Amino acid sequence: MRVKEFGGPEVLFLEQVPTPQPRAGEVLVRIHAVGINPVETYIRAGKYARLPELPYTPGNDAAGVVEQVGTDVSEFKPGDRVYTGGSISGTYAEFALCKKEQVHPLPANVSFAQGAAMGTPYATAYRGLLQRAAAKPGETVLVHGASGGVGTAAVQLARARGLRVFGTAGSEEGIKLARQQGAHEVFDHRAPDHFEQIMKATSGHGVDVIVELLANVNLDKDLTILAKGGRVVIIGNRGRVEIDPRDTMQRDTDVRGMILPNTPPAELASIHAALVAGLENGTLRPVIGKEFPLGEAAQAHRTVMQPGALGKIVLVPGTQERKD
Ligand code: NAP
Repeated sequence: MRVKEFGGPEVLFLEQVPTPQPRAGEVLVRIHAVGINPVETYIRAGKYARLPELPYTPGNDAAGVVEQVGTDVSEFKPGDRVYTGGSISGTYAEFALCKKEQVHPLPANVSFAQGAAMGTPYATAYRGLLQRAAAKPGETVLVHGASGGVGTAAVQLARARGLRVFGTAGSEEGIKLARQQGAHEVFDHRAPDHFEQIMKATSGHGVDVIVELLANVNLDKDLTILAKGGRVVIIGNRGRVEIDPRDTMQRDTDVRGMILPNTPPAELASIHAALVAGLENGTLRPVIGKEFPLGEAAQAHRTVMQPGALGKIVLVPGTQERKD
């Protein structure tokens, strides 16, 4: 799938391009599933701080099988199951050329669709929760938006780490899903009093960490439900918000932003080592909400921006019919 001009989902079009060839330090992956992330819709629309040169093939996340490796790549061999977190050539495709550091082993107990959920959502959830917010076992975390790709990952990671986990979602199915992923309590973020409900659930103590997926809507109120020394990590934001800075003073709280591409390479490598271990031991179980054929990327872009998230949306190259 290619983009030659920025615009609505309809600018995504199918094109045959030559299969890239791996050079030194590169790996060619035959893709079985592609992860769709909201950021790819912002980039496609031309509304993002970092834009690719046109034309381009979108996508960072995929899972598949190594087709070919460049000289000096000893970590992988043809036939290995892998997932990607980033690529050189784009992942909305049948093949993706990657730097070897962008490729990670996919354990046999994990499907390709699940592997396609790792590169951005799980790495972001890990970076936000455990590195930027430095959440500790025994603390209470609120995953504000626990039904989507990043949120379900954050819930599973936090639960496995020994935190008390609160989540929010905006549909009955989303609330049920967040509970199934390990959240101890789940609140409906459509309810105007959900902040009061959360505060009550902490007996007035407040939450230690908030993983915030829609800061422009929630940040002002988030600052009122943090415990002393609490941290909000901003992962998602779609606009401006007014806050009262005094709320941060009263309880010595921090607001910490992050984007995954800022992660130093060594820290990113350690994140993926932890994620692969979590897949192997079963504590991480990516949830697939919807699958679309590769050619229906435009529809997948419309769907990912709609409310009612239920895990990850993936594209499947080589499929003819849509599977809801
Ligand atoms: P997603 O799968 O579409 O999920 C979106 C989540 O936001 C859903 O759980 C949704 O809940 C929730 N949400 C909707 N309204 C909300 C509200 N008022 N309060 C709290 N949550 C609300 O998307 P995703 O892949 O998880 O990404 C989520 C956000 O993080 C996006 O804005 C994305 O761009 C951003 N992100 C940032 C980074 C980074 O590096 N900083 C990396 C990955 C993603 P319902 O659908 O149940 O209402």
